[in-house]
Amino acid sequence: MSGATRVLVLNAGSSSVKYQLIDMLDGSRLASGLAERIGEGNGRLVHTPLSGVRRESLQAFPDHDAALKAVAEELAADGVGLDSPELAAIGHRVVHGGKRFTAPTLITDEVLAEIRRLIPVAPLHNPANITGIEVARSLRPDLPQVAVFDTAFHATMPEYAARYAIDKAVADEHRVRRYGFHGTSHQYVSRAAAHLLGKDPAEVNVIVLHLGNGGSASAVAGGVCVDTSMGLTPLEGLVMGTRSGDVDPGVVFHLHRVGGLTIDEIDELLNRRSGLLGLCGDNDMREIMRRASEGDADAKLAFDTYIHRLRKYIGGYYAVLGRVDAIAFTAGVGENAAPVREAATAGLEELGIAVDPELNSVRSGEARVISPQYSRVAVAVVPTDEELEIAQQTFALVHTA
Ligand code: AMP
Repeated sequence: MSGATRVLVLNAGSSSVKYQLIDMLDGSRLASGLAERIGEGNGRLVHTPLSGVRRESLQAFPDHDAALKAVAEELAADGVGLDSPELAAIGHRVVHGGKRFTAPTLITDEVLAEIRRLIPVAPLHNPANITGIEVARSLRPDLPQVAVFDTAFHATMPEYAARYAIDKAVADEHRVRRYGFHGTSHQYVSRAAAHLLGKDPAEVNVIVLHLGNGGSASAVAGGVCVDTSMGLTPLEGLVMGTRSGDVDPGVVFHLHRVGGLTIDEIDELLNRRSGLLGLCGDNDMREIMRRASEGDADAKLAFDTYIHRLRKYIGGYYAVLGRVDAIAFTAGVGENAAPVREAATAGLEELGIAVDPELNSVRSGEARVISPQYSRVAVAVVPTDEELEIAQQTFALVHTA
């Protein structure tokens, strides 16, 4: 085994690249940052080295190539450049792995071609992920590069949970099925929740509620995902910041035939102008809670609709799992919004679910239990760490390859 212990995690979006350089010896962040507004002429790179003193530079990034080269320069300036012998691998977040990729995968030309073949089912995400991979490979062609898929953790869903009840041949022809997303987070958080309870992940059943600007729920039985709320795309399921979550598919036909909206307009409506934003004009839960506390009716409706959908998934996944040991809240809203956790679990004592108001109000960056001792189901707040999970999976693969 070589002495290289560092993994660079890259998350390339359509106009941004997020990165973290992690030392796998102790999980420490040697550097992290964000290059944004790629292709927009007014790019910005914010880089935080281990010393913690943030550096910000404004420079145009015509493309991902330019942005990644700027990131590489920042890392080199800290003495942790891409040519450093300590760098073991680069781990890439890839949104859609389809049915083929159910585990982290060493990137080859053939793998890249397959990720490209999945663009029709992930047109908003996979192209940027591919660009990130291509640029990183051109910078370090000799270094192992690993794709960690957002869909992979959900690949264990039984067929009856992954299927939509539509014509099987049509579904298969167009690869229409439920894939699920945020898998890296669900995997990390379900495992961390088990550890918080002092148990082996294989022994516990967990409902994970990943509530960020995007949001998804999952039912994890003994460390294995058995259902999740997102589907073919990240549009299905919970009410999100700007996405509707579940709607009757008939809404689409109606808006098209009666409302005269084009398919692209409906796509944009449901993905970008719906959810909390569509209901009340704000998608930041802080602002919504503030407005609701001042009596704003739209904000209260948005909050109540969000909570109602969340409770339906908690109840649904309780039935799917049969026995629930823990409910874990994570991501921006889940980790920070005590009123959301309280409302989502209120009145569920008959199901063994309760939240201690005092524990729930504690603000902390640590994983913590917020249910009282007597609660049969442990309710927990578990900060997610997708980058660390990607780095761990990447490192493990490189060292077993
Ligand atoms: P994420 O996508 O995980 O980064 O989550 C982002 C979302 O978390 C924001 O849009 C806010 O709605 C929410 N959020 C962040 N901080 C807080 C907070 N202190 N209280 C309530 N919601 C928060």
